[in-house]
Amino acid sequence: MRKSFIISAMAVVFAACGQKVAEPVPFEVVPQPMEVSLGQGAFKVVPEFNIEESVPAEAAERIAEFQQRISQATGKKARAGEAFDFYADPTLGPEEYAIDITAERVIVRAATYNGFIFAIQTLKQMMPVEIYGTGRIKGGIALQEASIKDAPRFAYRGMHLDPCRHFWSIDEVKKYLDIMAVYKLNRFHWHLTEDQGWRMEIKKYPKLTEVGAWRNGTVIRKNWDTNDGIRYGGFYTQEEMREVVAYAAKLGITVIPEIDLPGHMVAALTAYPELGCTGGPYEVWTRWGVSEEVLCVGKEETFTFLENVLTEVMDIFPSEYIHIGGDECPKTRWAECPLCQARMKELGIREKNPVKAGQLLQNYVTARIQKFLADHGRKVIGWDEILEGELAPGATIMSWRGTQGGIQAAKSDMDAIMTPSSDGLYFDHYQTRELDKEPFGIGGYAPIDKVYSYDPYNGVPEEAQHHILGVQANLWTEYIATPEHLEYMLLPRLAALSEVQWCQVGDKDYGRFSKAMDRQASLYEFLGYTYCRAFWGETGLAGVEPAEPAAEN
Ligand SMILES: [Zn+2]
Repeated sequence: MRKSFIISAMAVVFAACGQKVAEPVPFEVVPQPMEVSLGQGAFKVVPEFNIEESVPAEAAERIAEFQQRISQATGKKARAGEAFDFYADPTLGPEEYAIDITAERVIVRAATYNGFIFAIQTLKQMMPVEIYGTGRIKGGIALQEASIKDAPRFAYRGMHLDPCRHFWSIDEVKKYLDIMAVYKLNRFHWHLTEDQGWRMEIKKYPKLTEVGAWRNGTVIRKNWDTNDGIRYGGFYTQEEMREVVAYAAKLGITVIPEIDLPGHMVAALTAYPELGCTGGPYEVWTRWGVSEEVLCVGKEETFTFLENVLTEVMDIFPSEYIHIGGDECPKTRWAECPLCQARMKELGIREKNPVKAGQLLQNYVTARIQKFLADHGRKVIGWDEILEGELAPGATIMSWRGTQGGIQAAKSDMDAIMTPSSDGLYFDHYQTRELDKEPFGIGGYAPIDKVYSYDPYNGVPEEAQHHILGVQANLWTEYIATPEHLEYMLLPRLAALSEVQWCQVGDKDYGRFSKAMDRQASLYEFLGYTYCRAFWGETGLAGVEPAEPAAEN
């Protein structure tokens, strides 16, 4: 941060001496663009824009907003001119863009909405961090001469959020999306249902949120038989979710909703006990882990329920992909339930081992829901457990229990998204080994350099690599109860993730990335995000108990 401070001070000094061009900020764009060549000169930013008619209308709106921001920041009137020239270039790919900055002007080319907004994100990252605000920037803004051509390595660049174990308001979700957009992520995986709370309003089943969104306490640390006795919960109305979808779309982000089935359903079962094998009674879970209480898939009404829920999901979320979970579904209830056993018989499942028989039954559930969604033009993503039993062709596998699920899927001609908990992509894991300082958490170890060094092609044969659609980090929130703690776990690891997702292998360079970290910290501070300062040698978060008591001397 010391460095940024000196630079902004210099910019003011130059302006005070009557020089017309402020000093450009050093080029520290994250994720690093694919091709960059920097010049010696600088361009003095003025709000004179030409947006050619070839630019898609919605992109033109964002460019016009950017012009207004430049006008505010420079204190000059926005007007038509040739200082910034935006035009559509159909030779570029869907998320590609090119920027040419000379001392005279800035030319921006892209083919699509995302291409143009990513170009704007890059230009903003080349300006003082105050550009993210609404105020005047003293001394004006200069852009370093540069020629940039950029395109992402992966089409799927995701970040996940768990609003079930702890609930995040719509405003907090938007703030999360804002910082994802800075780093050019384009998928937001919203995990909307869990044992500990159902968070999505479903008009046809009001009790899902009247009953299922609330629990009577939350486990204290890992003392499974205790809880704090404090009623906890919340949910998103359909109107709020539509608002988030629209907000994300403006940022170039598709929201992928997850309805986790047939396990992780205790909250739904509490609301509608008739959907379980035993009929309950059930209670929205107050502890973490894996419950044996899952949907009864011997009953037709369970499928009617799921189809009705997914119909409302599809109505709210335009995403081509719907995540249907499929993880951690114990088969104990199915082994004892006459209806589930009858279903197995009907399906010709003769497997004697109850776990294997249950996996085959889960394959049936996955395939049936997959077909229902396919009939409505949607595709499914499932956690890697859906590979157990028989393969589910056509589904996209989200590999979380290490990388093997994704590798197996790709080798079997199926698409996969890599989110391995073993390789630094579980952002609920600790960021340092200083457990006497780290805020109490679930465990694990995912320091920023580990996140950065992950390569999703590791172990994937070359001929199967095209099946790796992309990369995502997951942020589960069992032990994360405040927005400050959530942001502390997200940042700055999100910056490292973005280079895994965006940069070609040869363009990744932890040394270069490290030099850009002060700039990221300035950005978080300016925008009011909490972040982990372990990179700067300072671990811990005020207000959250550390994982372990401080060692006594
Ligand atoms: Zn059953």
